[in-house]
Amino acid sequence: MFSSESFLVTPEDLRHHGRRTIDWVADYLSSLESYPVLAKTVPGEIAAMLPRSAPEEPEPFEALLADLDRIVLPGTTHWQSPGFFGFFPASASPPAILGELVAAGLAVNGMVWATSPACTEIETVVLDWLVELLGLPVRFRSQSQGGGVIQDSASSATLCALLAARERAMRGNAALADLCVYTSVEAHSSVQKGARVAGFSPAHTRLVAADETFAMDPAALESAVRTDREAGLVPCCVVATAGTTSSMGFDPIRAIGELCRAEQAWLHVDAAMAGSAAVCPELRSQHDGLELADSYAFNPHKWLLTNFDCDCFYVADRASLIDALSITPEYLRNDASESGAVIDYRDWQVPLGRRFRALKLWFVLRSYGGEGLRRHVREHVRLSDWFTGVVAADPRFELCAPPALNLTCFRHVGGDEVSERLLSDLNATGRVFLSHTRLAGRYVIRCCIGGTWTAERHVEMLWRLIDELAPAP
Ligand SMILES: *Cc1c(COP(=O)(O)O)cnc(C)c1O
Repeated sequence: MFSSESFLVTPEDLRHHGRRTIDWVADYLSSLESYPVLAKTVPGEIAAMLPRSAPEEPEPFEALLADLDRIVLPGTTHWQSPGFFGFFPASASPPAILGELVAAGLAVNGMVWATSPACTEIETVVLDWLVELLGLPVRFRSQSQGGGVIQDSASSATLCALLAARERAMRGNAALADLCVYTSVEAHSSVQKGARVAGFSPAHTRLVAADETFAMDPAALESAVRTDREAGLVPCCVVATAGTTSSMGFDPIRAIGELCRAEQAWLHVDAAMAGSAAVCPELRSQHDGLELADSYAFNPHKWLLTNFDCDCFYVADRASLIDALSITPEYLRNDASESGAVIDYRDWQVPLGRRFRALKLWFVLRSYGGEGLRRHVREHVRLSDWFTGVVAADPRFELCAPPALNLTCFRHVGGDEVSERLLSDLNATGRVFLSHTRLAGRYVIRCCIGGTWTAERHVEMLWRLIDELAPAP
């Protein structure tokens, strides 16, 4: 029990209960396969297990731990389960979990350099490390005009890119009402949301057609830009995707980037999922042309062993971003900031306050090393290649998009209803979870292999279940 004589529990209590809590997490991770991947909870079921009011009297910590098993686990979808193949993964790992714990223990607010120098400087260095590890353009390094910052999510990175693009265009005397944003029909919904939040006219957000590989068609982009120019509008920002959410399509960054250069439009590249693959030199072709981009983001919280939330956002020229987001009230003035010798990351994001997120990424990069990260990604790509092969070779199935990295999109040749029933039967086993999308109007099952604990036997188990449950063609 936490010390009852005091309202403030002590560091000794933390030590004692902390060990038990770490044990609880480790036990959970070692028994992941015993839980149905998808929570079978009905709406309101978990809330009904909680009292209507917060307790008046302090409760013993034992009661909390017991309720993790009684209330939380049954209502949890197990994203860390090795049978989780849905959406894109949200990967965690022991070093990331411990980095997160330390960040909670330090509990700093790294809004400006002076409020915790280590929080800022470790973040800067770790993001520079990643430029090298992923083979990103050197203009994204902090020693150049650019630099990287950790955002909570790819959505926030896209919003910041749009705000910086807007700032640059408006300093060039364009009117906000005339600015246009372009992205493909296959782009993530966060692009449209970001454009709306950033104040772009919804009537000037263009969803450009994609080709048969679900990549943005640069000719369609060019034509949309020309039409807007002719109407007196100003092409402001293009958001290209390296690895679309539905099918891992890759927009042609070089062709798009050249057009953006000619039009003086900002190019942001969203590589939320696929970006992590670039730790492997042989998986970098997706980034061809990236040196033409003004900004770029990927999510270590999807495929690089770092628990949510962790998005790495890079800009080639930090000035537009800072111009867009910097406001200095008197109470934040300090010598270090005034000297210009330090980075104040509050000016690189929408909120003021910021967590010490770099710690978990630092723990991960040091614990696995570049070699360990490459092995991790290569194994998922290998398993995915195997899975794609068995699906493609079976006459009951057809692939629905070019398989890429660790995503396979397929459907039953019997059509939408058969595919939908197969997915629902698979998920009802509780042993796996896959999700779906629509491509070219057709219902498609997605299988993404990216879980930290997913190994060969889990992918084989998935195939056995599919093989058993799928009807003949
Ligand atoms: C997952 C995903 C996002 C959204 O990521 P968040 O970090 O959850 O905001 C954006 N773009 C693409 C391409 C994605 O796959």
